[in-house]
Amino acid sequence: MKCLRVRRLNSSILFIGIIAIAVFVAFVLTGCQKKKLAAPGATVSGTYFDTLITITAYDNTPQDVLDGAIDRCAAYEKIFSKTDESSELYAINHRMGGNVEGNTYSIEVSDDMYEVLSCAVKYAKDTELAFNPALGSVISLWDYHSEHPTVPSQTAIDEALKVTDPFVIEISEDGSHTISMPMDGTQLDLGGIAKGYIADELKKYLVKNGCSEAVIMLGGNVYCMGNKNNQGYSVGIQKPFESIGTYVHVLSVKDDSVVTSGIYERYFEENGHIYHHIIDGTTGYPVDNDLASVTVVCSNSMKADILSTALLCMGSEKALEYARRESLVKVILITRDGEFIETNPER
Ligand code: AMP
Ligand code: MG
Repeated sequence: MKCLRVRRLNSSILFIGIIAIAVFVAFVLTGCQKKKLAAPGATVSGTYFDTLITITAYDNTPQDVLDGAIDRCAAYEKIFSKTDESSELYAINHRMGGNVEGNTYSIEVSDDMYEVLSCAVKYAKDTELAFNPALGSVISLWDYHSEHPTVPSQTAIDEALKVTDPFVIEISEDGSHTISMPMDGTQLDLGGIAKGYIADELKKYLVKNGCSEAVIMLGGNVYCMGNKNNQGYSVGIQKPFESIGTYVHVLSVKDDSVVTSGIYERYFEENGHIYHHIIDGTTGYPVDNDLASVTVVCSNSMKADILSTALLCMGSEKALEYARRESLVKVILITRDGEFIETNPER
């Protein structure tokens, strides 16, 4: 009897052992199961910042990495959107949160906001205000998003222009990421830089997650990662005021960002005059010079974004001078007369 009990006990132990091994093997197998890979050429997309954003991977990137990239755009919108009432930028522009002492508002900002603002103010100086991140008060008057946009009154423009000095923004350098600005109507508009920053950040995220061959498109901002598995990337330069996909030139691009600013991208017409979305900070009106678009090729997409906007504001002569000074890979200017000017044509 004793003996029998022991044998029964042994077989029970064996049975439990087998189950445990089976569960363990199943667990290991599921754990090691390969993540779902997106087919080369798989695209994820979403609309953020009023712009269709698409990311296409040309290597076998896990689908969840691509999904994660597009989800990040929603998070960036919560930082840089000027109109979303729950965004960080909205809080700054409305002097919400933070501290007020006398006439000074200060707030600790996110790392992303800190980096973008620091760079924006630096380039405001460097471009002699052609790029100005504090034009928010004026830009809000030109409501391109409304169904019937109209030219603002001169009085409104004059008033708004009084609060467009980006150098009133104090940015801490003590590591605290605090910014301070007056309790007046100064408003930030980061529409000319944020997409470039986001392209750079999405690129970093993809690289960190093993993706090296991809195209990130945020409207006029394109980041070509790698070389499309040695097939090379082609990026078309849009012909101003023609239907989308009509190109004046096609660039071969490898591991670079291509950013275009154009007066045809957002505009309305009144009395036969075109009022576009890139503002001259000295007049408060849309920039009025010989340029219709500027394309900048540069490995830093934020820099390309800032400079495509700034160079467009400068006009061709100053823009070419500036491009020569900077080590930009390439700059393409298209004038309103349809002239095509390219620096470094050999690249
Ligand atoms: P982009 O398409 O990169 O040239 O950016 C255009 C956007 O930048 C506009 O829609 C505004 O939000 C903002 N913006 C307009 N004019 C300026 C300017 N002179 N400096 C900086 N940002 C500007
Ligand atoms: Mg820009």
